Amino acid sequence: MSQINLGIIGGGQLGSMLSTAAKKMNINTTVYCNDAEAPAQNFCDEFIFGEYDNNKKILEFVNKVDLVTYEFENIPYETLSEINKLKPVLPKPSVNRLIQHRLAEKDFINKLNIRTTRYVNIEKKSDIETLEDFLPGILKTTTMGYDGKGQYLIKKIEDLNSIDVDFSKGYVLEKLVKLKKEISVVLTRFGINSYEIYEPIENMHQDQILKHSKIPAEISEKILDQSKNWATSIAEELKYIGTLCVEFFIDRNENLYVNEIAPRVHNSGHLTINAYNISQFENHIRAVCSLEKIPLKKLSNAKMINLIGDQIKPYRQNLCLNDNEFFFDYLKKEIKEKRKMGHITTLI
Ligand code: ADP
Ligand code: MG
Repeated sequence: MSQINLGIIGGGQLGSMLSTAAKKMNINTTVYCNDAEAPAQNFCDEFIFGEYDNNKKILEFVNKVDLVTYEFENIPYETLSEINKLKPVLPKPSVNRLIQHRLAEKDFINKLNIRTTRYVNIEKKSDIETLEDFLPGILKTTTMGYDGKGQYLIKKIEDLNSIDVDFSKGYVLEKLVKLKKEISVVLTRFGINSYEIYEPIENMHQDQILKHSKIPAEISEKILDQSKNWATSIAEELKYIGTLCVEFFIDRNENLYVNEIAPRVHNSGHLTINAYNISQFENHIRAVCSLEKIPLKKLSNAKMINLIGDQIKPYRQNLCLNDNEFFFDYLKKEIKEKRKMGHITTLI
């Protein structure tokens, strides 16, 4: 087969790791991003800087590639759908449109008879005043949220007075779950009932940002099966192609809830690079490029620690790693508080 040129929209750490995986498979990558300093330019073959609604730049990008995938969900639907008229976009744009809207996403999941947290659409501040039943709760923007951005904990109605929220942007109020644990299931769908599924990953968040992930997750057989089944049903219903992640909550009564779907590779799946024969990134590329599906083999248990903000500093200087430790520097130019700068995976 002739050389494949894969277009990737988004140039953060996920775009970087997709590019690295592609390179290993001799696939060329062109990354398109609206950040001139995007780290993926250090890892891809070609980098194009442009806004996501700049048609001329987008066309330049599309002309260079055979197909297009993306590393994050907040890309305008119109952009993906226009690209899809010229070159295949995978996962398909309609998946992205659904999942980038928290309300549509949760409605979709509930229609499959899969449990989510209790939620309600909020259009104006006074809507919340009659919803004491949903408190304590978390107010979340319906679009563009990530790493806890655009989220507010509302313990009681009075808390509304101390937050500065533009309700016209669209919000969802979610009942707070008394969390016992969070897990995620990463899978890659290649076609009808054709999957590679990684075992559930246990996740620990700090300030709503993922801090640690590990396999195996310490969960019951029942939760293990249910989480894999739910993730598979979601992917099948979406007719998804590529790697997808479903984030779950487990409450203190051992009930499982879907928190959200990520229509892309996921931070909790970084440990698959070292712990499996095929990483979530390689599998994504295999699926979207219609390459061979290779059975997954787990090589080791593992834990992954995100390096956030300043935490990267000591690792960038005179680092001593053991044979079972793997350090990843996303090469982001500026260290910012709450910014994911790198990670360490340890095989255990
Ligand atoms: P993001 O899109 O920013 O990842 P999430 O909805 O996944 O937002 O929320 C981030 C984290 O905040 C979750 O992983 C969890 O730790 C906490 N959280 C969010 N919603 C709830 C909830 N309803 N109950 C308990 N914890 C929650
Ligand atoms: Mg999340």
